[in-house]
Amino acid sequence: MSTHPLIIDNLAFAKKNERIEGVLSVADCPRLFELLQSNFADEAIKVGRDAVVINYILQGSVDAVDQHYLRLMISAKLLTICQRCLSEMPISLKLSYNYLIGESEANDVEVVDIDSDDVDLQEASQVMDVFKLIEDEVIMAMPIAPIHDEDCGAGVMQSGEKPNPFAVLKSLIKS
Ligand SMILES: [Zn+2]
Repeated sequence: MSTHPLIIDNLAFAKKNERIEGVLSVADCPRLFELLQSNFADEAIKVGRDAVVINYILQGSVDAVDQHYLRLMISAKLLTICQRCLSEMPISLKLSYNYLIGESEANDVEVVDIDSDDVDLQEASQVMDVFKLIEDEVIMAMPIAPIHDEDCGAGVMQSGEKPNPFAVLKSLIKS
């Protein structure tokens, strides 16, 4: 369990085919934790330290035409709240990303070389914050309105109306 940022020189990392792996927890992902906490605010359920467990692997590589890549694999377990029955709902995310690192001296990064749309661009940086990148990707991948697969608490809602957490928030702000 780490609470220190992990900073890499991403070009050098790729060049050396380096690989790091580890686990992030609540302390490493303050924004993600805040987001999860706010999901539970209405229910007054305390979200514990086990609400975030993120296993990650970051692998650098260089291809035959000297383009530098990062591959990021994430396996995350998050505690969210089901938007139908409003009870706790753990979710698992399996994510995988490929980043092409853009050389900073080539200001106009040639995206035309990317023929696969599952490659993202990552700016070349000597101080790339790995935890921040992982946290960003997990936040982006989180379902906005998670709902249990099974038929849960159908009686809670009237006539198939879906609860809108933002509407609830709005009414709280107005009053
Ligand atoms: Zn549910």
